[in-house]
Amino acid sequence: MTYLDHAASTPLWPEVVSLITESLESEYANPSSLHAAAREGRKAIEIAREQVAHALGARPEEIIFTGSGTESDNLGLIGAARRARGSGRVKVIVSAIEHAAVLGAGDALAAEGFEVVRAPVTADGVIDLERFDALLDATTAVVSVMAANNETGVIQPIDAIAERVRAFKVPLHVDAVQALPWMDLTSLPADLVSVSAHKIGGPKGVGALRLRRGVRVQPLLHGGGHERGLRPGTMPTVTIAAFGLAVQRTVDTRTETVARVRALRDRLEAGLVAGVRGVRVSGEASDRLPGHCHVTIPGVESEPLLLLLDAAGIAASGGSACQSGAATPSHVLTAMGLDAKTALCAVRLTLGRTTTDADVDVVIEALRAGVERMRR
Ligand code: PLP
Repeated sequence: MTYLDHAASTPLWPEVVSLITESLESEYANPSSLHAAAREGRKAIEIAREQVAHALGARPEEIIFTGSGTESDNLGLIGAARRARGSGRVKVIVSAIEHAAVLGAGDALAAEGFEVVRAPVTADGVIDLERFDALLDATTAVVSVMAANNETGVIQPIDAIAERVRAFKVPLHVDAVQALPWMDLTSLPADLVSVSAHKIGGPKGVGALRLRRGVRVQPLLHGGGHERGLRPGTMPTVTIAAFGLAVQRTVDTRTETVARVRALRDRLEAGLVAGVRGVRVSGEASDRLPGHCHVTIPGVESEPLLLLLDAAGIAASGGSACQSGAATPSHVLTAMGLDAKTALCAVRLTLGRTTTDADVDVVIEALRAGVERMRR
């Protein structure tokens, strides 16, 4: 298989596989209990907390483990907004290109009576700062802007957003789920940061929220006092330890991976532009994550094309993986001004640390042949 869907999920690091397989049988104690076996589990969780904190430039006590990136986004946005309720801060600003986890959390807040507004982006897929300024005011409870978009890979100007948001003393939530594999986040000027293990060679079903000291959120779940009462539920020791190891491997190898994958991605895009008539690279003028190649091919709908690629053993996706299967145009592309018809002609090829030169050759040829066949 030629796997070009790393933005959807990633292969586990071999060391992570070893950690999981070696500890699944022995790590059965509840890490909250008092005995020695529990203490072992607690120690593993605290090591992972340090590893995640290190990657985010945070203190370990600022890290709350959650059940996914989605849950982290929900806890960050809903938790911060509910906390501000009663102070006259009723507005929630999210960018128009957020992942469904943030947009859905925003919809839930709107149903509770918050005024939820979506900040528009330019044709290049970057948040429009002038229009953002017009939305931001002293009634704002929380702002959420992602570090980099999951479909196009376009990197957002978080420094500029943070400066504006700070002037109104509003907490800033940043979904850094896609950015973590590629970007140094140790100086990210955000109060709340969401990350997820399965995008960095860790297991599915675990994420984290960085909660900067002094920033408060209301928990979404109620139960025991785990994670300072902000995320109750018996902690999955092995999964969290695996997350920690995956973060560490990602950070340790990131510089080399970024350089290598960027070169592969650039060669892929050059090959597609040369070989496929009419192909357009989304967000081409913007800073983008090095693993993302997102294109539209006018007149060639992505669904049948993805099926052709699948038949050729190539894993790719249309918009985000969550939306694939549904023939609705991507909200990210329509926010960038694409018409619905063109937005249905999008293919996302996302490279990762296991991508090879041969993968790039295979997909360039398969896309060229697939498009030719569909145009016949
Ligand atoms: N945010 C972004 C930008 C994502 O790409 C994803 C995953 O697709 C998520 C949030 C959700 O993370 P998880 O799959 O861990 O729930």
